[in-house]
Amino acid sequence: MAEYHLTREILARSTANVWNAAKLEWALHEIFESEVPETCLCGHYPIIENCVLRNKTNGTLATVGNCCVKKFIGLPSDLIFQAVKRVRTDESKSLNGEAISYAHDRGWINAWEQDFYLRIMRKRKLSDKQSAKKREINGKFLLRLRQSSARLTPQ
Ligand SMILES: [Zn+2]
Repeated sequence: MAEYHLTREILARSTANVWNAAKLEWALHEIFESEVPETCLCGHYPIIENCVLRNKTNGTLATVGNCCVKKFIGLPSDLIFQAVKRVRTDESKSLNGEAISYAHDRGWINAWEQDFYLRIMRKRKLSDKQSAKKREINGKFLLRLRQSSARLTPQ
C-alpha cells in the first residue's frame, strides 16, 4: 500500500511513466532530520529522517522518508543517516564514504579534507592532530545537517 502510494506520487513528478525508468531520474538533493515530524510521500507519518530528492530531468523536488528511499529508490541516504547517528553518539567514531562525499559535493569540506578523511577513517590509531581534524570534520557535518534542516522547515 505504502509502496503503491510512493510510486504513484513519484511517477506523477517524473518525466518517464514507468517506475523502473522514473526512479533513475531522482538524485539525493539534501537530507535532514526534522524537529517537527513530516509526512512521507507514501503517506507514512511521522518521519524524522527526511530526504529531499531532485528530479534530474525536470528539477522537481520531493521530500521522502529515509525508509522509503532505502527500500524503493536505492539512493545511499540511509548510510549517511547511520553515520550521523554513530558520530552523534560518539564523536571519535567515523563518518563513512557516502557521508564524506555528500559533504564534499555540497562544499562543506574541501578536497584536501575529503582525501584526508577517506585515508584515516578506518584507522584505529590516529595522531592527536589527525584525531582533532577528524573531530572537526565530524562536528562540521553535524552542524551543517542541522542548518539544512532549519532552512527547509522555517517554522
Ligand atoms: Zn514513505
